[in-house]
Amino acid sequence: MIIMKTDATEEDIQRVVAEIERNGLRADVSRGDYMTVIGPVGDERRLAFDRLASFPGVREAAMVETPYKLISKAYARFLGEPGAHKRVSIGDIHIGNGEPVIIAGPCAVESKPQLMRIAEEVKAAGAHILRGGVFKPRSSVHSFQGLGASSIESAEEALSWLREAGDKFDMPVVTEVRGESVVELVARYVDIMHIGARNMYDQDLLVEVARQHKPVLLKRHFGASIEELLSFSEYIAAEGNKDIILCERGIVPMGKGKSYTRYTLDIAAVPVIHNETYLPVIVDPSHATGRRDLIFDMSCASIAAGADGLMIESHYDPSEALVDGPQMVTPDELKDIIEACGKLYHLVREH
Ligand code: PEP
Ligand code: MN
Repeated sequence: MIIMKTDATEEDIQRVVAEIERNGLRADVSRGDYMTVIGPVGDERRLAFDRLASFPGVREAAMVETPYKLISKAYARFLGEPGAHKRVSIGDIHIGNGEPVIIAGPCAVESKPQLMRIAEEVKAAGAHILRGGVFKPRSSVHSFQGLGASSIESAEEALSWLREAGDKFDMPVVTEVRGESVVELVARYVDIMHIGARNMYDQDLLVEVARQHKPVLLKRHFGASIEELLSFSEYIAAEGNKDIILCERGIVPMGKGKSYTRYTLDIAAVPVIHNETYLPVIVDPSHATGRRDLIFDMSCASIAAGADGLMIESHYDPSEALVDGPQMVTPDELKDIIEACGKLYHLVREH
């Protein structure tokens, strides 16, 4: 990490960048209000930090041995206020360091009328962002794979409904990108690109999605440590895209026998992640529990733990849903959750 002096010139910055590139690394240049911080991307052992420290305009140059320095609190400290949390903004919606943001909608986009009705009802319930899967990751090849699976035409049609619903009800939209081949297509229609738990480790997908210059919602793999989640989000940051929203969605339950919940919601991950990075973190209680009756309590618990938002699956008639019906809440239930979480947020912050 190279911290430039407040009066460093553009020429000074470019000299450091050139030196980093000459050694076969890339340079991530972050310009704060007062200072510029340059993060080398690649094997830092190839750089002579002593030499860099003597370059004109350089205040400090030192190797940072963490796998996720570009998203770390230490990096942000030089750019703004100490301990500042980043806000990821989509229009006038800001995720991070403020009121919780609620992402809601069906698990899968099933038809235009289904999506339009859910969009209208979740908006009325207080949701800020609309979700809906067009490409569904499924354990069985025999179950519904999302409308995107049948052809590119039907994928594009479903994506266009999502766009239309978002525009009509004034909500940004988010959908999962499952493979590199559809990254550009999805980027044309949505505001936030979502990388699902199963793909958290797919470096090539992370890089390709990061290059679309849209906010990225990265879900934690159900077998991943917090360090892995942070390290893989660094692949997105290393492309110059720091609009990353991290999502805790439950990890694999332990022990033999019935586990009662689909996964184990790791609530402590929220404050732990906040301690390590300036990126916002949200919780998905729907996939974490798989149970409608637990969504209210787990949403409240997440907000109390400091989550910057929630992603909740919702449907006007969960029994009709082709995917994940048992974990979906109705828009009425969603409204109660949003109201309770709003109150809780103020209670906990003002304490
Ligand atoms: C989803 O949010 O649609 C989803 C499939 O979740 P996850 O990737 O966490 O399983
Ligand atoms: Mn689902």
